[in-house]
Amino acid sequence: MRSSILIIYTGGTIGMQTDTATGALIPFDFSGIYEEFPSLKRLNVSIDVHTLSPVIDSSNVSPENWVTLATLIRDNYTRYDGFVVLHGTDTMSYTASALSFMFENLTKPVVFTGSQIPIGVLRTDGRENLITAIEIAGARDAAGRPLVPEVSLYFQNHLFRANRTTKRSAEALSAFYSFNFPPLADVGVNISYNQGLIHHPEPSAEQELRVATELSTEVCVIKLFPGISKPILSAILSTPNLKAVILETYGAGNAPTSPWFIELLQEAINRGVIVLNITQCKGGCVSMELYETGLRLLQIGVTSGYDMSTEAAVTKLMYLLGKKLPIEETKELLRTSLRGEITR
Ligand code: ASP
Repeated sequence: MRSSILIIYTGGTIGMQTDTATGALIPFDFSGIYEEFPSLKRLNVSIDVHTLSPVIDSSNVSPENWVTLATLIRDNYTRYDGFVVLHGTDTMSYTASALSFMFENLTKPVVFTGSQIPIGVLRTDGRENLITAIEIAGARDAAGRPLVPEVSLYFQNHLFRANRTTKRSAEALSAFYSFNFPPLADVGVNISYNQGLIHHPEPSAEQELRVATELSTEVCVIKLFPGISKPILSAILSTPNLKAVILETYGAGNAPTSPWFIELLQEAINRGVIVLNITQCKGGCVSMELYETGLRLLQIGVTSGYDMSTEAAVTKLMYLLGKKLPIEETKELLRTSLRGEITR
């Protein structure tokens, strides 16, 4: 059976080509995808393309764009077997993580991809990323069930769980990596799916996709550095309506033990601000009980983000705060893996 795939182009380098007359980069028209890549006809899929208007450089992406994208997928959900989202690489991990939380009940593949070199440039990495992402979005088992029914990100031979990814290089073609969770699939001559790692919905799962459209932006990220000063930390923590701070700490979740530092955080927590501890290391996990410098944070009520990436932590907080749950419930859900974003 042929899978039907909707490709959604949101903007970014992948959708660019060189104007042969001027040499400038101009938009690529994805509606001509079969003419450009005739080999796509050999895949067992039928493809429609939707280009968002306006297309944006992903540095301009906002939670409103995430709601537009998620509702577009929901509105087309019953018509297609899978979705491929073409997105600028700069914030792709944020958008893909956000959608992984916003979709409640996802049972179909949503594969994000993009490229470092425009698709209309001879040496592009976009061609392979696009074709393989389409193949993965349409892949099914013998019983007709999708092989990867979760939000994923495909780039340069690896399919990752989206909310585990980070853009790690502005130069390398393997621009994305998942430091704390193995790839869902490795791509070489064949596509080898790591079935034990892929999330599959319960057979009895509700089939209707729900989208959470309330996202809170009353969050901020503070990356610790030696020399961080009291006035600066104090100014950030006294921002009106601030609901949560993601503290990017050192190593296994450690921070200075200076009394002013601990007191400022303690005051904020007492006022109801959530302080979520994630490590600024690319890989590994927060474990606040390991050193005195982490233990102080635990004692004042800092919440562990375990091995969540910054992108997952930001978007998970936006999603959970949008639900306006009691604060203890929000903290409990932060510590719980909702979409495979934490190893626990
Ligand atoms: N600035 C571009 C973007 O993120 C870069 C890219 O697509 O790779 O939209």
